[in-house]
Amino acid sequence: MIEVTVRVPAKVNLQLAVGPLRDDGFHDLVNVFHAVSLFDELTASEPAASAETLTVRVEGESAGSVPTGEDNLASKAARALAARAGASRGADLLIRKAIPVAGGMAGGSADAAAALVACNELWGLGLPLENLMEIGADIGSDVPFALLGGTAVGRGKGELLTPVETGGTFHWVFALADGGLSTPKVYGECDRLREAAGEEAAWPIASEPLMAALHEGDAKALGLALVNDLQPAALALRPSLGRTLDAGRDAGALGAIVSGSGPTCAFLAGSGTHAAEVALALTGAGVCRSVVTASGPVPGAVVAG
Ligand code: ATP
Repeated sequence: MIEVTVRVPAKVNLQLAVGPLRDDGFHDLVNVFHAVSLFDELTASEPAASAETLTVRVEGESAGSVPTGEDNLASKAARALAARAGASRGADLLIRKAIPVAGGMAGGSADAAAALVACNELWGLGLPLENLMEIGADIGSDVPFALLGGTAVGRGKGELLTPVETGGTFHWVFALADGGLSTPKVYGECDRLREAAGEEAAWPIASEPLMAALHEGDAKALGLALVNDLQPAALALRPSLGRTLDAGRDAGALGAIVSGSGPTCAFLAGSGTHAAEVALALTGAGVCRSVVTASGPVPGAVVAG
């Protein structure tokens, strides 16, 4: 094998319930992940330099703000895979980004998942998905879901996954913002707001109305059940997102929510046509940098045909 290309989806959190802060500095979460048809593409090729070198190039959406050294999550994942396989192997990785960077759609984790799948194939390692998911969990808590795809409930830090059957396809509109929001800062702001309000974080549990809406493929009920405990913190750090959410609601979206730690905002529509209408209205309202439509659920990282 000389080169392998993998396509990997972004995620939106349908429910993000943030529980108490743990001793290790993470929060216990219930994180209902949903993979949507907004994809990064990663090509892993045999290294042009020495057999053990790992290089990264990034093209596309906000490529300039993505590190290309050892900090790149795809590079980290490839090195972790080589270490696990006891092999010192190299690759040239080319990432074509469409998922917004630091946008709350887990683009970096998606690229890590893509690197695991691509290098597993390029190096002929033949590791099963569950091993890739274990390696991925050490890179970041959203990586196992980017490998699995579909819709799933994540517990713990988000890495303990239970797949959820959905009764249909859901149509989404995403408002991409200028610049990103740092995930650790948003969690920190969430803790700060809770402390200031004297609020104890409740133990996170999966929302029953949300699970029922997913099983039934009921977009209207799903729109009402979307919930993100990080939203007040994201809005406190980026108040302009309030106008973006309002514009989507005014355009008739069935649900409007900050995606993960933001600043991307996600809007649920009733059909592909409805999504196009909401997208047009959001573009016209001038409340975001750009607008994309997508549908979900879609599979996780797969070798492109
Ligand atoms: P999440 O939704 O998982 O909290 P996010 O979507 O907000 O994450 P990412 O796009 O995953 O954020 O990136 C967060 C940071 O990780 C970026 O600011 C960037 O510096 C770094 N990073 C490392 N590797 C990558 C990569 N391959 N793609 C994007 N960002 C990367």
